[in-house]
Amino acid sequence: MYFHYYGQLLHQQNMMQDYVRTGSYYAAVMENRVDFVGRVVVDVGAGSGILSLFAAQAGARHVYAVEASEVAEYARKLIAGNPSLGQRITVIKGKIEEVELPEKADILISEPMGTLLVNERMLESYIIARDRFLVPNGKMFPTIGRIHMAPFSDEYLYMEIANKALFWQQQNYYGVNMTPLQSTAFQGYFSQPVVDAFDPRLLVAPAISHVIDFTSTKEEELYEIDIPLKFVSSVGTRVHGLACWFDVLFNGSTVQRWLTTAPGAPTTHWYQLRCVLAQPIYVMPGQEIVGRLHMVSHKAQSYTLHLTLSAKMWGPGAELGGILQTSSGKLDLKEPYYRISQPQAYPSTQDQQPNHLLLTQDMQLQPQDEEGSDLMPQALLQDSGAELHSF
Ligand code: SAH
Repeated sequence: MYFHYYGQLLHQQNMMQDYVRTGSYYAAVMENRVDFVGRVVVDVGAGSGILSLFAAQAGARHVYAVEASEVAEYARKLIAGNPSLGQRITVIKGKIEEVELPEKADILISEPMGTLLVNERMLESYIIARDRFLVPNGKMFPTIGRIHMAPFSDEYLYMEIANKALFWQQQNYYGVNMTPLQSTAFQGYFSQPVVDAFDPRLLVAPAISHVIDFTSTKEEELYEIDIPLKFVSSVGTRVHGLACWFDVLFNGSTVQRWLTTAPGAPTTHWYQLRCVLAQPIYVMPGQEIVGRLHMVSHKAQSYTLHLTLSAKMWGPGAELGGILQTSSGKLDLKEPYYRISQPQAYPSTQDQQPNHLLLTQDMQLQPQDEEGSDLMPQALLQDSGAELHSF
C-alpha cells in the first residue's frame, strides 16, 4: 500500500508543490555546492528524482537515485529528458535496504520526514542507507531533525471532537439506545491526532524539543521514542493537549539551513499535529506541567502515541506538593484527523440547491478575495495535502 501510494505521480507532485519543502531543499543544495561538486551522492527514496536533479545541478560527479515504488520509471523518464544532468544520474529501482550500489556515497540526500517527523518510519531506511552506503564522516542532507512540543489550549477544537461522540448519547435512535457505545466513540475520536495549521497563540508555554541526529542515531533507537515533558504555563487556562511540529537541519559546509514546519511559519504539507486529551487540565500562570510522550512504533509504518500531562502543585509551598491533576491519552499516528480548512465542495444534489444560492449571494456581497481561493473549486484544492495518505 505504501509504495503504491508513492508510485502515483500526483502524490509526488503534491510534495514537489510544497514550495517551502522543495525550495528549502533546493536552497540547501545550491548554497552548499561545495558539498556536492565532484562528489558521489545517494538519493534515498528519490521519488520523481527531483533531489537527484538538484544534486546534479550542484555539480555532483554521480548520483544514485534509489526508489522502491513504481515512480522509479517516471524518475527515469524525467532524468532522461534532462540529459545534461541525467548523464550523471543512475536510477535504481528497489528498496534502499536491498539494493547494491557500485560505490559508496560522500553525501546522502533524502526526504524521509512524515507527520511528527517519524510517521511512515522512513527515517529508519535513511539510517540504514547511512550504514550501508555512506563513507565515514560523510554528509547527510538533512543532518538532524527535531520534534518540538508545547501544551496548547483550544476550546473550539476540543468541543468539535467531543461533539462528534454526541451521536452516541441518543437513547432513542429509531428505537435503539445508542449509549452503550458512547464511551467507545468518545475514546475513538480522541485517539486521532489532529493535523492542521494552528495559530501559535494557542500555545500556553514555550516549546521543548527532542533531537534526532541522523548521523549517529541507531535504527533501533527509532523503534521507541520516550520524551519527558516539562513546561511552565505562561497563562491561566484549560490545557487541551500537546501540540507538535518538527524541523530539520541541512548542516552544509557553507550554510546551515533549517526547514521548519512550525505554527506561524509558512505552512507545509505536513501542517502541525495536535494530540487532544479527552480530559483537559487546568493550569494557572507559572504552574508547571509535566508528563511524557511515549511513541511506540508499530507494523503499519507508524507509531502509537502514549501521552500524559499533569498539572503540578503551584504557588507558595509548591515544592511540598505533588501532582494536582493528570490526564492521559493513547493515539494512533497512523489514523490522523485531517482538519485542513478547505472550501466546500460544489453541491451535487438537488436538496443542497438552496445552500448553493445562499453561497452565491454571499459571494456577491463580499469583497473580492484577491487570490480567489474561496472561489476555487474543490477539485483544484483537494491535492493540497500530500500527507493525506490512505495507504
Ligand atoms: N525524494 C522525493 C520523494 C520523497 S517521498 C522528493 O523529495 O520529492 C519519499 C520517497 O521515498 C517515496 O517515493 C517512497 O516510495 C520512497 N521510499 C520510502 N522508503 C523507501 C525505501 N526503503 N527504499 C526506497 N525508496 C523508499
